[in-house]
Amino acid sequence: MIEVADILRQHGAAYRATHTLLPSQERALSDIQNCRTEFFGGHVAQCDHCGHLRYAYHSCRNRHCHKCHGEQAEDWLERQRSLLFPVPHFLVTFTLPAELRQLAFGHQKDVYGALLRGTAASVLKLGADPRCLGATPTVLAVLHTWTRAMLYHPDAHLLVIAGGLVPGGHRWMATRNTAFLVPVRARSVIFRAKMRDALKVLGLQDQVSAQVWRKPWVVHCQHAGSGSKVLEYLARYVFRVAIANSRIEALDHGRVTFRFRDNHTQQIHHVCLSADEFILRFLHHVLPMGFPKVRHYGLARSASGPDREHARRLLPEPVNSTAPDTPSPHAVTTDSAVESLPMCPLCHLGHLHVIRTLRPRLKFPP
Ligand SMILES: [Zn+2]
Ligand SMILES: [Zn+2]
Repeated sequence: MIEVADILRQHGAAYRATHTLLPSQERALSDIQNCRTEFFGGHVAQCDHCGHLRYAYHSCRNRHCHKCHGEQAEDWLERQRSLLFPVPHFLVTFTLPAELRQLAFGHQKDVYGALLRGTAASVLKLGADPRCLGATPTVLAVLHTWTRAMLYHPDAHLLVIAGGLVPGGHRWMATRNTAFLVPVRARSVIFRAKMRDALKVLGLQDQVSAQVWRKPWVVHCQHAGSGSKVLEYLARYVFRVAIANSRIEALDHGRVTFRFRDNHTQQIHHVCLSADEFILRFLHHVLPMGFPKVRHYGLARSASGPDREHARRLLPEPVNSTAPDTPSPHAVTTDSAVESLPMCPLCHLGHLHVIRTLRPRLKFPP
């Protein structure tokens, strides 16, 4: 199977020679190219029966790497499931208008942060309005920047509970409106206003055409059931970047072919790009270092833990602290870098003992 790492190894140097990379992109490129190689160090183990030597290398742990994070994704899902309530949830998607994409790419930390904060503030403001809900719900916000063709298309996905804790905390309030808190138009207007305020504070409003503040902004809301399935879907945005290795079909004469399924027609499309264009599209989705792409607001904030547990007790029926749709499997460790005394794969009689530690290289390769 062809992997993103193979494409970066074969064509990363040519890409570097013709493009200026942001520090976060340089780091991601280097980490993914070198994941599980001697670059990151590791150890040598020897069989105590036949003397067979086995080399094991550490993973890069870069959040944009496709080979890392299998175990982390399971842990993340477990933690998020514990925030769900046994009531309906909604998935609300706020899309940044096309006119703001260039600005967002040029000021990623600021605009992505404003997008997540602004969308959550829109939901919480509407939730607090007694005409809508009059309570504080839990909000999990995830930033997502790619289309299935790997194009740059930032939006925020919010998993929101259909109810909340009233001010003072004496009552649980369920949403009366099955179409969520309020009409779509109100969500759109508040989202747009929050973004305009945020860009003003950042001093970026002059870089945006005035026309964007007059057109309707796209907000989509759908039922999310217990929320558990939507969490699995969101985990793909959190622990996968732009494309899964399984979608890459060929790397041939400097061209990459991959497929994607159109959400509306369910048709499979094949995209063929130069390796250069593929890497360009991939790197558009590398986030600034340290930028948290998942955030919790309202009752989901870690500081709201006591209120959240209080809210559970106020629900009409006694409930468990978690409500998964399906039992979650135990985390499977895929990183074989450090194991204690495994069987020898050659003789199947002896055990492997670590005889030497391989130090990581201190500098990134060119
Ligand atoms: Zn052996
Ligand atoms: Zn890695």
